[in-house]
Amino acid sequence: MGLDPSLVTQLVNDGILRHGHFAFRSGRHSNGLIDRDLLLADPAIANHFGYAIAKEFFTSHVETIAVPSIWGAGLAQWVGYFLEPKAKVVDATPTPGTLTIAEKLTPLIEGRRVLLVDNLIISGETMTAFLGVLDGLGATVIGIAALWSSAGSEIAGHTIYSTLNQHYPAWPEHTCPLCAQGQPPTEVVPY
Ligand SMILES: [Zn+2]
Repeated sequence: MGLDPSLVTQLVNDGILRHGHFAFRSGRHSNGLIDRDLLLADPAIANHFGYAIAKEFFTSHVETIAVPSIWGAGLAQWVGYFLEPKAKVVDATPTPGTLTIAEKLTPLIEGRRVLLVDNLIISGETMTAFLGVLDGLGATVIGIAALWSSAGSEIAGHTIYSTLNQHYPAWPEHTCPLCAQGQPPTEVVPY
């Protein structure tokens, strides 16, 4: 839903997405591996993803997009831009080991309808911690969106909308169809 299938073809042709049999730290397996450094380097691609996410939450009355990482920050700008009315974007302050939101930005969180956005959700640990921060500031969390998730389909009761999971599911190992086929060989991903 939402994502133009020709975009997936373009990602493969551009070397941003690789097909195979990948094992992630979360314990899940997938048939696709996304290059997280290259993924948002091209605004012409990033805007398509931003649009797909905005479309999914178009009737959700999102007031603020909140982002836990610098990797999600570029994507969040597109999502906020495509919502109507446009949403504000609040990036967490990049401090090692902790997530904080600058005091000047807290009025955009307190009592607001907030959508959490990141580029990739790998283990879900960052998003879980960020949810705690936003709850503490009195946000009404509408949902979680990412380009791809290897952490399952929900975190702390919030559904994750991830644009690429319909094409590249993150299967728990015991249900992985590639493991069942015995091929191709598994490639372990370091994250
Ligand atoms: Zn597998």
